[in-house]
Amino acid sequence: MDILRNDIQYLKGVGPNRKIVLNKLGINTVYDLITYFPRDYEDRSKFKKINELIDGEVVCLKLIPISNVTESRIRRGLSIFKLMVKDDTGTIMCTWFNNKYVKGYFNKGEEYIFFGKVSVKYGKVELVQPEYEKIDQNNRTGKIVPIYPLTENINQTTLRKEISIALKLIDNKMEETLPANIIAKYNLMGINEAINNIHFPLSKEHFKKARVRLVFEELLLMQLMLLSLKKGYDEDKKGIEFNKVSTDEIISVLSFSLTNAQKRVLEEIFSDMESNKCMNRLMQGDVGSGKTIVAAIAMYKAVRSGYQAAIMAPTSILATQHYETIREIYSKIGLTCELLVGSTTKKQKEKICERLANGEIDVLIGTHAVIEDNVIFKNLGLVITDEQHRFGVRQRSRLSDKSKNADILIMTATPIPRTLALILYGDLDISIIDELPPGRQKIDTFAIQKDKQERLNNFIIKNVKDGKQAYIVCPLVEESENIEAKSVEEMKEYYQAHLIGCRVECLHGKMKNKDKTRIMDEFKNGEIDVLISTTVIEVGVNVPNATLMVIENAERFGLAQLHQLRGRVGRGRDKSYCILKYESHSNVVKQRMSAMEKTNDGFVLSEKDLELRGPGDFFGTKQHGLPDFKIANLFTDMDILKIVQVIAIDILNQDNNLEKGENILFKQQLKQKYETKLEL
Ligand code: ADP
Ligand code: MG
Repeated sequence: MDILRNDIQYLKGVGPNRKIVLNKLGINTVYDLITYFPRDYEDRSKFKKINELIDGEVVCLKLIPISNVTESRIRRGLSIFKLMVKDDTGTIMCTWFNNKYVKGYFNKGEEYIFFGKVSVKYGKVELVQPEYEKIDQNNRTGKIVPIYPLTENINQTTLRKEISIALKLIDNKMEETLPANIIAKYNLMGINEAINNIHFPLSKEHFKKARVRLVFEELLLMQLMLLSLKKGYDEDKKGIEFNKVSTDEIISVLSFSLTNAQKRVLEEIFSDMESNKCMNRLMQGDVGSGKTIVAAIAMYKAVRSGYQAAIMAPTSILATQHYETIREIYSKIGLTCELLVGSTTKKQKEKICERLANGEIDVLIGTHAVIEDNVIFKNLGLVITDEQHRFGVRQRSRLSDKSKNADILIMTATPIPRTLALILYGDLDISIIDELPPGRQKIDTFAIQKDKQERLNNFIIKNVKDGKQAYIVCPLVEESENIEAKSVEEMKEYYQAHLIGCRVECLHGKMKNKDKTRIMDEFKNGEIDVLISTTVIEVGVNVPNATLMVIENAERFGLAQLHQLRGRVGRGRDKSYCILKYESHSNVVKQRMSAMEKTNDGFVLSEKDLELRGPGDFFGTKQHGLPDFKIANLFTDMDILKIVQVIAIDILNQDNNLEKGENILFKQQLKQKYETKLEL
């Protein structure tokens, strides 16, 4: 259907300005608009009576105006409009601020629908800024009304109107996107009915069926995509057969012995490396479980088999950290490694590239710079990415493009429940380091509210006096580096004034790389006592003398992220603490805080996260860096996920290129959706 591909400006009511606003929401075409799904709904299908109203409630009423709209100008730029309305149980006032449109809208004696918040003051009942609508056959109020995620300069009413214009235009003529046999077998709603009902549900039942249909389709496509990726690796790519290499040499220079979990995971990795298939393995392990050493040993095997290896980290701070750890080990056994990050000078970089090309460098460590086109290896055999939680399907396919037939190992610290991992990382084999090195102490965790700030300050000062260091982490307030920088700087001023005798510094995204590195170095060398930052330090800083982690506005973080942050302390022999400062009365927040106080086990926390997450909390997928879904929620739609996984396997078994009959529908959508060069 061609309308769908039309630019959004094609719609009535969308001029250049509105186009800009819609583009900001990621809406460029008519299709984007109708697949811009509501984040929530308001049930306006039940009407209340005036004599039932309670202060603070959001309600829907059928009311009749009994006065004209009056305007009183309070001051320049502020006018209040009032309208007296009644039903058969009483009379109330509606109030609007600066809404001149209400003036000509109402006719005395006719019935309208109002929707808004009730305010009761001194016995006077008012509706404040209610939405209003004439009662007629076509209107939507009195039904279930969609609430969309918005941005500046657009409101719900406008967006609802544009979507309904688009739906009218489409007029139920969208082509079906799922094969007829699947729709029949699983009793799914057709695409047109589903799209209509996801925006403007005729009833709760219609909404449920519409949502199931759309979630089903989204998850089925994802599964088909993941499974075909895996097929691509397995069959087409002949991998390198690495030698059986004794690891005695490298293990003898470590100052500890490997945990059983590390040994087991290494065996799994080795068996992949020795086989003639390309390794595509995910190594999952909690913060501090010792993934870096495992990576170092795997790369040692590659080097001793005559190949080079590379390890990539998401930030230069983390890359530098890996470099330092790995260089120390390799220097004892004659392996050469180099660091390549954003701040590496052009001259240094040229030198590194030269030595890489002639094979003088065994292992390259860096940010994504290491797989840029101009970095050429003599014979790259193993690529390791430490993705933490910036892990995405697209990156995965890109990475396997770049590294030709090299083996790939991905490390992630995000603990997710195993059932979920199996489904989501369907294209990868999974190894889990489920054991921490011995002697780790529990990090004592306390959740506190604002009123304890003074005690907290004293606690920080006491720690510093004892020769320890502390982190203070603030959440990203907005997706704006400027605002973020400002809030971190303000925090620094506050703490510099209150933490008497402590050297306080801060770190944020707006700083130059050079300054970031300097501050990090000073913190590592103990020249800074308290380091304030946004979540930059989340990704893997290792300062064993830092024993206190303070997290500001902890309610804004998910459990997985809180757990990551906490993992920055407890790295040395000394007792470590984590203080979660939060401001919220929400029950879920309290439960999150208390889960953090009770356990240090990332997998237990991830299960708890699943349990606490309500529908509509899409935060989770972002945290795990999983693909963004338009409608599915991996946590609450687990049942559907399980069903579609079986279907996807079945489909690919019968038709692994997706070219028979209606399977073509999937192939087309996969190409559009995932923008990959998938050769299905
Ligand atoms: P991760 O990358 O999984 O967060 P790291 O590899 O950075 O963990 O290891 C965390 C710390 O634990 C490092 O200081 C490392 O030297 C140490 N470590 C790793 N494995 C062991 C082990 N088997 N026994 C003792 N300490 C270990
Ligand atoms: Mg690490």
